[in-house]
Amino acid sequence: MNIILLGPPGAGKGTQAQRLVAERAMVQLSTGDMLRAAVKAGTPVGLQAKAVMESGALVSDEIVSGIIGEMLDTLGADTGVIFDGFPRTAAQADALDGLLATRGRTLDHVVELEVDEAALIERIVGRYTCAKCGEGYHDRFKLPKVAGVCDVCGSTEFKRRPDDNADTVRTRMAEYRAKTAPILPIYEARGLVQRVDGMADIDVVSRAIAAVLDGVAG
Ligand code: ADP
Repeated sequence: MNIILLGPPGAGKGTQAQRLVAERAMVQLSTGDMLRAAVKAGTPVGLQAKAVMESGALVSDEIVSGIIGEMLDTLGADTGVIFDGFPRTAAQADALDGLLATRGRTLDHVVELEVDEAALIERIVGRYTCAKCGEGYHDRFKLPKVAGVCDVCGSTEFKRRPDDNADTVRTRMAEYRAKTAPILPIYEARGLVQRVDGMADIDVVSRAIAAVLDGVAG
């Protein structure tokens, strides 16, 4: 099964993708995570992407489509894929069609997480993750049970993304509205889109996505 999680920054795509990976034979391909890894490693792609990401603009279609193609080639044919943060433009949606077709894969579902933009800014600006295991936390909505200690792995180091500040978030939202939202009709025309209320509790959202994947959504 191959699915796309679509929704504005902070909609919860990454959180839900991680849950799906834990529960099913699927991998998460997050272009944001891959680009951050490239920035950290100082690769040529990372050097090109760093300033663009910090401004909240989009990295070039060629770069992100290229890294998705490379990642797909590392996977076995029976491994399902969750695309998280890709495609983000019509050109990327087009590229994805080609990347899937040449590998004998088909797209099964596009899940759109519907959210309220004002609430998203608060979600994003307060979020941080464990530096060791990646568990997500939030200054207001999800504090560690013991202050300063990760619930999952016990690490005391946490990190915040440099692009999770109010200014950059507004640019990221504007990019979503201008370039990403317009790809929804492409998938709608193919009958692939199902909407899930992304403002509900994390568990409720997970159940709604599971219902879509299992074909029991209303
Ligand atoms: P979010 O969904 O919270 O905005 P991501 O981690 O998906 O965060 O992406 C962070 C940044 O990485 C984006 O603002 C953009 O600069 C870059 N990026 C990630 N995926 C893509 C993509 N498919 N196309 C272009 N740029 C991308």
